[in-house]
This record gives sequence, structure tokens and C-alpha cells, in this order.
Amino acid sequence: MLVLCPAGGIVDCHVHLLPGRLGEAVREFFDAHIEGKLAYPNDHGVVLDCLAQAGVVQAWHLPYAHKPGVAADLNRASAELVHRWSDHAVSLVGGIAVHPGDDAPADLVEEALDELGLRVVKLHCSVGDFEVDDPRLEPLWRLVDRRAVPVVVHAGHDVSGETRGVELAPLDRVAQRFPGVPLVIAHAAHPDTAAAVALVERHDNVYVDLTPRVVDQVALSAEVLERCHSRVLFGSDLPNTQVLVEDNVSRLEALSPQARTAIASGNAHRLLAAQH
Ligand SMILES: [Zn+2]
Repeated sequence: MLVLCPAGGIVDCHVHLLPGRLGEAVREFFDAHIEGKLAYPNDHGVVLDCLAQAGVVQAWHLPYAHKPGVAADLNRASAELVHRWSDHAVSLVGGIAVHPGDDAPADLVEEALDELGLRVVKLHCSVGDFEVDDPRLEPLWRLVDRRAVPVVVHAGHDVSGETRGVELAPLDRVAQRFPGVPLVIAHAAHPDTAAAVALVERHDNVYVDLTPRVVDQVALSAEVLERCHSRVLFGSDLPNTQVLVEDNVSRLEALSPQARTAIASGNAHRLLAAQH
């Protein structure tokens, strides 16, 4: 029941195809903390098939580091994932994990870009227990600013995955200081989406993703999506979500063709094309 048929299909900018034991550990976390059943199995092949069926043609895999020292392995696994599924109908964009406590975060990211071919950075403030304006990330921000590498930030610290507006203050400061880096606010800071939209309106380099918060669709009205359409990315959070991709895609039905195409794929393609 594909409701959306923009010529370029859909780019899903938020999936987690985590390797073996880590993938299992994340599922256990959801079982322990979140009520209800996740809608997708922790099986990379099944997840990619489900995405393809929903009209997704490209997906950004976002690994994240819960502590210092694990990012290099996650990044290698990210590159292997892209390679392993290179024949699949859904083309994978490999994401980069990094933690402020890593020995040299900027070097780690540069190596992931140049030697592993990875394209986007994920920072998870609750899982990693840090702020995006942590001074140890300063060289990293200079690097991604210079090279226009998109950085997806989960800014909230609550185990529920929710974000409060005040938790966006560090991101506000980073956006101001590094205008060359596209900063994507994961889940549009749901439920405090008004705070995320305020940052989109304040900074040309701030984006939000339409990724559901486990069970909730993010609270962005069709009117806001239309108005901010050049700064919204599509996301699903597969496989760790209770929301079906199709249900999220159907939200775009109410929009103008221009806004629909921008959110479904145009913005994501533009961001990756601008990277260097
Ligand atoms: Zn996620």
C-alpha cells in the first residue's frame, strides 16, 4: 500500500542495523524499558526487505557508541554492512559512531570517512551520556564543518527516547559556531518538537528527522512540515520501533508534491551531494 511515489523513492535517514551482540543488547534494553512489541525483527535482511516494500531505495545506518573505545569496531561493522548488502534493492549509507571519550574523535571520524567510505555521523547523548558541545568534540566539529558531513544527534537523555527543549541548548550553540555542518535533530526532539522547529528557523544548518519515538509519531503538523519542508528528513528507526514505515510514509500524503519529494528523498540527496 505505497501511498507515496516520488520519482526518486524514499531515503530513510534513520535505521539501526547493529552488529550481533550489540543489536541483541539494544533489543533487550527496549524489552526492559518500553511497553509493547517492536514491529520488526532484529534481522538485517528482513528489515531491508520491509524497507524496500515500503518504497525505500536508500537507508542511512546509524551506529552509536555507548562508551569510549567501541566506535572503531562499530565503524568497521558499518562498512562491512554496506559491503555485505551492496546487491540489495535498498542501498545503504554507512554511519559513523564516535564518543567524546575516544582517544582522538576527529581522527576516528576522518578515518571512517576516508578509509571506510562512511558518510554520516551519529551522536547519541543519552546512550553515550554526553553533550554535543563537550569540549572534547571541538576538533570533530571543525572537521565535519569543513567537509559538510551530516551529523544526526539524539539530544534527549531520557531512557524513553523523549527530548526536552532545554536539552537542545548545546546543539543550538554548536549550530551557531559551525554553520557548515548539517545538524539533524533525531525524532524532531519529540515531544518538544516546537523547540526543534525554533532551531530550524534560527539556523540554516539545522534539520529534523521524522523518525517516530518508539511508539509515537513525532508531533509535527502537516502545516509545519509544509513550511519547513526543505529541512525535514524521513526516518523510521527500524527495527527498533512499534510504528510501521508505511504509516509514517502516509503522513506525507497531505503535503504538496514539492514538500513530499523534498522530505522523502530530495533533502537527503542534497546533503550527501554537498559533502566533500
Ligand atoms: Zn534511532
